[in-house]
Amino acid sequence: MDDIVKLNVGGREFLVGQSTLTLKSLYFATLLNGDFSHQLINDHIFIDADPDMFGHILRYLRRLEYPLFYKNGEFEYSVYDQLRVEAEFFGLERLEKWIWNKEFQNVVVVERHTREILEFVDDDVTRLELGSFLELYNKAHDPDPLPANVKLEFLSQKAGTKAVWQCPRGIVVHHTANRCGRQCQKCDNYGETRAAPCMAHYRTFAKTIVFFDRLKEK
Ligand SMILES: [Zn+2]
Repeated sequence: MDDIVKLNVGGREFLVGQSTLTLKSLYFATLLNGDFSHQLINDHIFIDADPDMFGHILRYLRRLEYPLFYKNGEFEYSVYDQLRVEAEFFGLERLEKWIWNKEFQNVVVVERHTREILEFVDDDVTRLELGSFLELYNKAHDPDPLPANVKLEFLSQKAGTKAVWQCPRGIVVHHTANRCGRQCQKCDNYGETRAAPCMAHYRTFAKTIVFFDRLKEK
């Protein structure tokens, strides 16, 4: 049976198995050997450290898995830096080095897919904002809606002209693709194309985040 160690870290109480603390941490191995004195608060060993950071330390000690601080596509460098200082304090050399060498940058693989959407629009393209762009995107990829871990970036749009099908009867839904029927084919000017006034050009990045197992300490 593993002994339970009661800790009070910066005012927050933790219960931890003794071997969890002593296996990796020189600090705790020394402390629990009685090699240096400590203060007790309500039967708990007081440690003057940040309890939030200690929570991360403890998660690492329990599962030997490096911490991932990654939010909105960015690593949280300041959190890593705080944790590095704590790792040094608690004598966790491998964790400290892992952060110091920024090895966390290797555990997240971001796949970037470029997709272009070309959509003919009848009036001013500059009026197309991101919202309608997303609408176009979803329409273009229906029935394959965007997965939750995909983030879209709006990159660019440009205006130009393009030869498009012209319905001789002026039926709007016959434009863009040739949807003319027999009635249209009887018209004199059937078969003509015209230069469309503008064309929106959108390029997207679809980001997919993949986590590799390099978080596990080897
Ligand atoms: Zn037509």
